[in-house]
Parts: sequence; structure tokens; C-alpha cells
Amino acid sequence: MKILVAVKRVIDYNVQIRVKEDGTGVHTDNVKMSTNPPDDNAVEEAVKLKESGKAKEVIAVTIGEEKAQETVRKALAVGVDRGIHVKTDSYVEPLGVAKILKKIVEKEKPDLVFMGKQAIDDDCNQTGQMLAALLGWSQGTFASKIQLKDKIVQVIREVDEGLETIEINLPAIVTCDLRLNEPRYASLPNIMKAKKKPIEQIFVKDLGVNVTNRIQQLKVEEPPKRKGGIKVKTVAELVSKLKNEAKVI
Ligand code: AMP
Repeated sequence: MKILVAVKRVIDYNVQIRVKEDGTGVHTDNVKMSTNPPDDNAVEEAVKLKESGKAKEVIAVTIGEEKAQETVRKALAVGVDRGIHVKTDSYVEPLGVAKILKKIVEKEKPDLVFMGKQAIDDDCNQTGQMLAALLGWSQGTFASKIQLKDKIVQVIREVDEGLETIEINLPAIVTCDLRLNEPRYASLPNIMKAKKKPIEQIFVKDLGVNVTNRIQQLKVEEPPKRKGGIKVKTVAELVSKLKNEAKVI
């Protein structure tokens, strides 16, 4: 069993995002970057499957600028065997990422692809589903529990009504939820060892895929500031305000 894990470099979730004055995006200079949080869960799950003997090899792949390699290096430090960095200096939207990952899947032939359920920078929640569609593979999204049963993966997934249990055939794409596991921290010796693990670099232009963006970002702006609330004295007053002022009931 071979597992490919997709890891994306994003602005760290603790950073207070600042919108650029000209509305063309958000500030990223001197801003702390990290692995997209659910991608850490995807890495953890793959490494656990390797440790339990169910997986033979785990490969981490990232698509992005030179520094995106840091996410792969971090994955190598917690037990991933080798990495792939698909280099591009331009923003690639989910369909482009899915097309690139399809090429990597065709080259590496994994049995399972683990990804995050959503990237916290664009919040798209599309790439896993698009990759499954392009490959014609089964998909289990929002996984909060994964169990391997021979050629089948059982996925417990979060849906609006609660938890849904599905069984899908391998090969499959599984997108991981934050509840799936507790990602480990890399120890210093393992960080040192990870420096020796190989990261193959591939250029997007050599993959022969059209990653032209189809979405045009018009403007980025701060959400409107919240107005202060008021206190009402009675339920009747609340109902009246909801009906006559807010007009929501
Ligand atoms: P999204 O559809 O943008 O919300 O991203 C969902 C998941 O796709 C992420 O959690 C990653 O696992 C994967 N992904 C998206 N963009 C990239 C990228 N540039 N490099 C590697 N993985 C990515």
C-alpha cells in the first residue's frame, strides 16, 4: 500500500490577516506560514498506517513556490518517506492543483491519496473532489475516522445531520477533518534526519497540464465592522424588534 499526501503551505492560522490597502490581496511578507491544518491530520493518518504495517510507503506532495518545500520537509520530519515539490511561482486554483496531482498520481500509482478537507486560505473545499472526478476514483470527504479493510476503506464522515459511515473501494481519495487524529510534533533528531530524505522537484511546465486560472479575483476587502448590540428587557420586546426592525421573523 502506497499513500500520497497533499500538503499546502498557507498563512498560519494564528496570524491576524491584513488586507492590502489597494485591495489586490492580503499581506504575506514577513508573515508566518505553516502547513494547512487538516493536511497535518492527513500526514498523521498516513504515518500511523505506515507504523501499523498497513502502508509501505508514504509520499508528501506540495505545489507552490520554493518555500512550499518547508511543508514537505515538515511531513518528512514526522515519518513521511519522501517528498515531491511541484514548483510554480503563480497561484494555482483548485482545478489546476487537481490536474497536477492527477499527473503525480499517474506517475506514483498510490492506492490512497490523503488530503485536507479544505485549505484555510482560499476555503475552497474542492481539490479532493475534483481530483477524484478527474481520476474516476472513489472519494470519502470530511473523514473523522478511517479504517482499512483489505481493498476497502471505511470512512466515517461529518455531514450536516451527524456522522455518516461509508465504505469505498481502493484506489480512493480521502479528505481529512481536524477530528481525525492529533498530529504529532517532530522531534529534533527527526528534523535533522528529514534533511537527508529526498525531495524531487518537478516544474509545472514539464507536466503538460493547462493550469490557466478560470477565476478572476476582482477585489479583496475587510468584512464590515460589527455594530454594537443592544439589550432588550423582555421576550416580547425581542420578538417585536426581530419582526419590525430586523424583519427576520
Ligand atoms: P481546497 O480545495 O483549496 O480547499 O484544498 C483542499 C486540499 O487540497 C488541501 O487541504 C490540500 O490537501 C490540497 N491542496 C490544495 N492546494 C494545494 C497545493 N498547492 N499543494 C498541495 N496540496 C494542495
